[in-house]
Amino acid sequence: MDISGKRAMELLQKIGFTREAGSPEEHKAAEILKETCEEIGVPAILQDFEIEDAEIEDATLEILEPFQQSYPVTGYKCAQRTFGEGLEAGFLYVEDGDDVSLAEAHGKIVLVNASYMRVPMFRKLIKAGVAGIVTMEGELRDDREGTDLATRKLRRTLRAFGNVPMVHTRVLDAFDMVRRGASKARLVLRNTSVERTSHNVIATVVGTEKPQEIVSFGAHYDSVQFSTGVYDNGAGSVINMELLRYFKENPPRRTVKFVWYGSEEIGLEGSWAFVKAHKDELKDHVLMINVDVGGPVLGVDKIAVTADEKLTAFVEYFMKIQGCPCTVRQGIYSSDSIPFADSGVPAVNFSRDGAPGAAYIHNRFDTLSFLSAGALEKTARQVLAFAQAMANAKAFPVQRKLPQNIVDEVEKYLYKKELAEVSEEK
Ligand SMILES: [Zn+2]
Repeated sequence: MDISGKRAMELLQKIGFTREAGSPEEHKAAEILKETCEEIGVPAILQDFEIEDAEIEDATLEILEPFQQSYPVTGYKCAQRTFGEGLEAGFLYVEDGDDVSLAEAHGKIVLVNASYMRVPMFRKLIKAGVAGIVTMEGELRDDREGTDLATRKLRRTLRAFGNVPMVHTRVLDAFDMVRRGASKARLVLRNTSVERTSHNVIATVVGTEKPQEIVSFGAHYDSVQFSTGVYDNGAGSVINMELLRYFKENPPRRTVKFVWYGSEEIGLEGSWAFVKAHKDELKDHVLMINVDVGGPVLGVDKIAVTADEKLTAFVEYFMKIQGCPCTVRQGIYSSDSIPFADSGVPAVNFSRDGAPGAAYIHNRFDTLSFLSAGALEKTARQVLAFAQAMANAKAFPVQRKLPQNIVDEVEKYLYKKELAEVSEEK
């Protein structure tokens, strides 16, 4: 039995529809993955978990002075709602949120140079006492029909620092507001929180000699809004399905557990739910192998080793010996390996990143048009070569302990220090 890029591509076509966290389409994709496992002959289960979401009833931004104009915006899910006629306040462009700009920001609706709000910026804005926040995405040259304006969410981590009404606009509209000297605005945000159910798909092949040791495979199968999410990360999902097929036919010494994670795109929710629900079992997960983004014809295979330097060096040597072209680095990777690393499980992340200009991510342009079966197979072979060596090792060579530099990187990524500070303040 050999793995096949062509077969992987066929499955990718089947799940290549928009699969947003907690949506019926995400659930449908989970069912397709589950059925595929069962066709292979491996029973699969769905682990469901709750995620927070919101319905936006109304989101508007109107400049009131020195001119009057409404601009198209989307409202932030889970951001503070406005009441009555909305929030009317001074409007200020605070660029990157530097101290000088923020000195005048108290009580104002501020526009920032940010597409995604992150903890350091958000914390500064809250400290400065802003009344509302406007973020922006896209490019000046965007054509409105040919591009989309995403709906963002104010994540729980950020809400630990505060909450104000927030909307999201296009760069070209933000440009217009600033160029014309907008100084007063009205922002309206009406939203209601809702809980939705998302799913992880789990399939296991029990090891022949060391069933108690588990090599854990991960790939998220959800997508963002407007995107068919085939590059990110239908590709990783179908690559791992090829590996499951291989291990079903060639049962390894150790147990291999495959998980297709839901809701990765809204904050790794599926993998957090998995580690939470499998606390006791997790001590048996000796290594996590994650695949996130793949398939671009023009691109480069990259491996991020979230483990010690010995494993990093091994992977680098091994890939050379195997004849797999790729770059290898030690470090974390923003994907489902993070909750594992946070629980002390070493991880190796595989990706095939598009060459500059040759791939699109997190928008309507992430489509099959720039992917190929050959490129999928290339990455699948790398992952398989490494996975075979690990799942069949006579003695497991990787220490189940992360070095301090990786622990630090994970803590930084999760803003643990900042969150501890804020919980102390409260
Ligand atoms: Zn991804």
